[in-house]
Amino acid sequence: MSQADAALSFLSSCHADLTRLRRHLHAHPELGFEEHRTAELVAQQLHAVGADEVHRGIGGTGVVAVIRGRRSAPAALPAGAEPGPQAVALRADMDALPMHEELEAPWRSTRSGVMHACGHDGHTAMLLGAARYLAATRDFHGRVHCIFQPAEEGLGGARAMLDAGLFERFPSDWVFGMHNWPQLPAGRIGLAPGVMMAAADRITIEITGTGGHGAHPHLAVDPVLVAGHVITAVQSLVAREINPQQQAVLSLCAMQAGDLGAMSVIPRRVSLVGTARSFRADVQQRLEERLAPLVQSVALAFGAHAELRYERVYPATVNTPAVAFHAAEVATELVGDAAVVRDLPPSMGAEDFAFMLQAVPGAYLRLGTGSEGGAQLHTTRFDFNDAVLPLGAALYARLAERALSQPAAAML
Ligand SMILES: [Zn+2]
Ligand SMILES: [Zn+2]
Repeated sequence: MSQADAALSFLSSCHADLTRLRRHLHAHPELGFEEHRTAELVAQQLHAVGADEVHRGIGGTGVVAVIRGRRSAPAALPAGAEPGPQAVALRADMDALPMHEELEAPWRSTRSGVMHACGHDGHTAMLLGAARYLAATRDFHGRVHCIFQPAEEGLGGARAMLDAGLFERFPSDWVFGMHNWPQLPAGRIGLAPGVMMAAADRITIEITGTGGHGAHPHLAVDPVLVAGHVITAVQSLVAREINPQQQAVLSLCAMQAGDLGAMSVIPRRVSLVGTARSFRADVQQRLEERLAPLVQSVALAFGAHAELRYERVYPATVNTPAVAFHAAEVATELVGDAAVVRDLPPSMGAEDFAFMLQAVPGAYLRLGTGSEGGAQLHTTRFDFNDAVLPLGAALYARLAERALSQPAAAML
């Protein structure tokens, strides 16, 4: 039996336990940086499976386990060959979303207004499964670091862990993350040798006029009209200033102005909030540099004043090509060539695993979880597809085990 099959068979024998664990996590969701009970449960489980070290409170509620292999490091390499990784990090996120759940299952959320609608309950359960397998078998050299991260949903928990010295305390040569993906059929695995997800930036625009009577616009500076021109003008950036072969999106998604009860009051101020998405640093730079002068000059043309704040929230999630190749090989061992998508098109969504990939070479994968009638991520009836728990756990485990089983020179 191959090592991949052995991992799958070990984790399939844990399927009932993993399902129970996943459903328990689902029933007790916690928001970003509030994952106290989740972190407690994760730490207990890690101790129970025999992890060598369990560290808590890293970047808030983050947990890291260290599992050491039993094999000795590979023998001396031929001259010029690079040594392979000595430590591999595996990351799962633990947080839930502020949403009202409409799932009708016995394991539905017990906390009103909080819901595991992104499947991070599944990610946590799969990484705990991988830890159980790795601690039981230890058929690798070096160390595996299992990272349970808080606050992925918009709060930058990965950044918080890095700021707390994650990779200084647990030096890792490679890092892997994954996300369940209902748009990909269950049993498939997708990734790309480069960009997986976009950089996500926040745009806030304040337009100030003078306000006045709707019947006497000539005595006012109307910021609502200016906002209309600003909304139209910013689209010219993507259409006319970005190379059409490179992608970017600008979406102004929220607008506040005036009072719906005041049909003839021109307000003094309009606020707009939106997001800019891009894959490349130069495209992101261009959007950031051009937005403010464009918006300010449009406002000026109408006698109004505009201020723009551009905040970089998450960088683009970019896989390291050689590590993505390793991950694709691991995926192929587990599900076969036909079920691995090696050139998955990037998504305009964003992911704070990007910060970890800026710090350490690595790869981010999508684990197919799609099923007949299954709901999409961030919807009120979403539920993680428990059928893939053993596969996801085996994928995490093999990403580390295979990397720590042979010298890089032979592997890449
Ligand atoms: Zn999400
Ligand atoms: Zn998510």
